[in-house]
Amino acid sequence: MARADSKVLIIEDDSVTMRVIWRRLQELGYQLFGATRALEGLDLARQHLPSIILTDLYLPDMSGLELASSLRADARFARIPIVAIIGEDDDNARDLSVAAGINGFLAKPINVQALAIQMEFFLSGGTDMIADEGRIDQARAKLLSETVARLEARIRELETKNAELQRLDEMKDSFIQLTAHELRTPLTLVQGYGRLLEDHPPLRRMMEQDPEVTILIQGLSDSITRMQGIIEDILIVSRIMTNKIDLNLTPLNLGTLARRAVNSFANALMERRIRLVFDESQFPSSMRADADLLYMTLVNLLSNAIKYTPDGGQIILSAQYNNHLVRLSVKDSGIGIDPAHHEAIFERLKLPQSIETHGTSKTAFGGGGLGLGLAICKGVVEAHGGRIWVESAGYDPERLPGSEFIVVLPLSVAKGEVGEPSTATTRNLGKIRPLNARQR
Ligand code: ADP
Repeated sequence: MARADSKVLIIEDDSVTMRVIWRRLQELGYQLFGATRALEGLDLARQHLPSIILTDLYLPDMSGLELASSLRADARFARIPIVAIIGEDDDNARDLSVAAGINGFLAKPINVQALAIQMEFFLSGGTDMIADEGRIDQARAKLLSETVARLEARIRELETKNAELQRLDEMKDSFIQLTAHELRTPLTLVQGYGRLLEDHPPLRRMMEQDPEVTILIQGLSDSITRMQGIIEDILIVSRIMTNKIDLNLTPLNLGTLARRAVNSFANALMERRIRLVFDESQFPSSMRADADLLYMTLVNLLSNAIKYTPDGGQIILSAQYNNHLVRLSVKDSGIGIDPAHHEAIFERLKLPQSIETHGTSKTAFGGGGLGLGLAICKGVVEAHGGRIWVESAGYDPERLPGSEFIVVLPLSVAKGEVGEPSTATTRNLGKIRPLNARQR
């Protein structure tokens, strides 16, 4: 009789054989686990530590012999019976099977009547194998050379597939870049015609007479601007992703830049009754960086802080600096971010969003976006040799734990440092961080 605690792992890709064995062993009261691939079988074996493993010899990803060798190399499986399910003409696999650590065979088609006795036999330590040391040594060498040959073939296959995937990835990036470029030209024309239309005297008169016409024209113009923003975002992200980001490094006043970014949200902050705490004197007045890209980064971080903070909340934009580095912080009193997502939100294709609930406002509470903002920030910051990360206790729209986005940048990006956090940056990060700890 099967013991109730006997766990049986069956690894078999032939569904008929699997079903026959499964049904019979189920009747006998065994606890069953099934896999159709060797790697899946290895995972299940390590997870459940079965009392016995029945495996096909020809699996799609690895051979049953390789699977057995791999299990035998693990002390937890040194004594667990491993039984090969073999076809009638597989007799020459015997020596190789012994070499791989297999204890016995179940012949296909499975003899359902005999299965109960066979299982008892193997579970109580029985074996079909007669060991002839000389032949087994030869078989071991053969098994090893076959495994190495198969591994080599698999590595070559993977390398070819990898090269092909890289080519497709590059094609996709160029396609996105080209499409965005192509869209930008007609959109600029639409914008130009829109302006001409607004200045067209008959339309001006209509706008003066009918406020609804003004609203319609304003709506058109806002949508075009928004669309241009999206296309610019896509272009920047694809430049970042293809490492084609060229920094235009110039001396700049970070305080002035931050003030410009803050001012661009004046209306939204007022409408949403959000208090923005900002002290320009905390910011270094001279640093070397790409002003446009840094401005875009600040705007993205502030826009997110506004979007994910309910009306009446607070945002603090602050900075600290020493001779080498500046540390910027955008801290909000919003919904916060689950720590499990702290890294993923900086990726280009991140958490799945529902298309139906997808909004594109830059400042409305909860208004989503293309999900490119933080990927852009990360690309820009890293291109300057800096780091960006988020700290937040978690996501909670009720209790509003808030989020803090922190950016550390070198005050001067030297030639050759672009795109890689320099050792100077990494070394000095440690010096600037304690200041932060004291502040909180
Ligand atoms: P999106 O266009 O969706 O805002 P981002 O790349 O700017 O894309 O942000 C990615 C995601 O990170 C957002 O969808 C949101 O879930 C989360 N997130 C970003 N900033 C904040 C913040 N200040 N507070 C809470 N969640 C945020």
